[in-house]
Amino acid sequence: EKIFSGFSKTRENLAVIDELLLYWNLADTDRVLDELEEALLVSDFGPKISMKIVDSLRDDILAGKLKSGNEIKEALKKSVLNLLTGKGGKTELQLGFRKPAVIMVVGVNGGGKTTSLGKLARRLKNEGVKVLMAAGDTFRAAASEQLEVWAERTGSEIVTAEGDKVKAPLVLSQAVKKGKEQGYGVVLCDTSGRLHTNYSLMEELVSCKKAVAKVIPGAPNEILLVLDGTTGLNMLPQAREFNEVVGVTGLILTKLDGSARGGCVVSVVDELGIPVKFIGVGEGADDLQPFDAEAFVNAIFS
Ligand code: GDP
Repeated sequence: EKIFSGFSKTRENLAVIDELLLYWNLADTDRVLDELEEALLVSDFGPKISMKIVDSLRDDILAGKLKSGNEIKEALKKSVLNLLTGKGGKTELQLGFRKPAVIMVVGVNGGGKTTSLGKLARRLKNEGVKVLMAAGDTFRAAASEQLEVWAERTGSEIVTAEGDKVKAPLVLSQAVKKGKEQGYGVVLCDTSGRLHTNYSLMEELVSCKKAVAKVIPGAPNEILLVLDGTTGLNMLPQAREFNEVVGVTGLILTKLDGSARGGCVVSVVDELGIPVKFIGVGEGADDLQPFDAEAFVNAIFS
């Protein structure tokens, strides 16, 4: 329900497709598909994906596989669903068998990284997991206090930097060591909300990853990139950059309860081949849901 209301704008943009398809006939295919492509572009699907979808619809229409407006609409939904699930990445968290599992959360400032980390702690606690947080955002003033609030709210322990000069990699390795020694199930690592164009800070992320792997070979188990669902296609270069630098294993899309822009999600998943693992649908501790591609498709197409 929450994503259904969050995607009202996307749905509105795509509603024109129903009208187009209602009066579709074979002779009119080119015009209808051109307008359909336009509707996808307006809804942030991006040129590459919009063309890919429309070309495959055209092929199926010309091959006689789609014979009515209804069939075209169903094929359209199916092709978006396939784009979201086709690369086959696991949508569930992959935490392995070694304890503690380490999850690093990365993303630009304001996207909802710290909030998502807090919500993730709540989900894991509800599953009976002993959670330790690591306040690795040593760059932004007050980030650590914000995380402490989430630790208290979710009943999690937290490791913070002792002193101004302590940098993120050290905080993370101290937390992972503590997690290992004290039998924690998961260590949730916050990181700086660096701009993806700020290379020295991006390099710090690499150091964070190495610092964690030094304590537990193979860690982190997951590197989750938090993307603001309201930013549209801007999220694409961001996601590309983070993935190149640290190797992202899953996406968290936040603010899908607001005026989210649906199409770009399909572009990001298709281009990077990284699955969406969770979606944020509010500011509360329980507002993080596992991603359901079918519900997503139903929420963007009326
Ligand atoms: P960070 O800088 O990436 O750590 O971002 P924060 O976690 O501080 O979040 C920035 C703002 O977005 C805060 O006001 C959050 O409450 C808000 N926020 C985060 N996730 C969601 C979400 O899923 N829905 C809504 N409506 N707001 C969110």
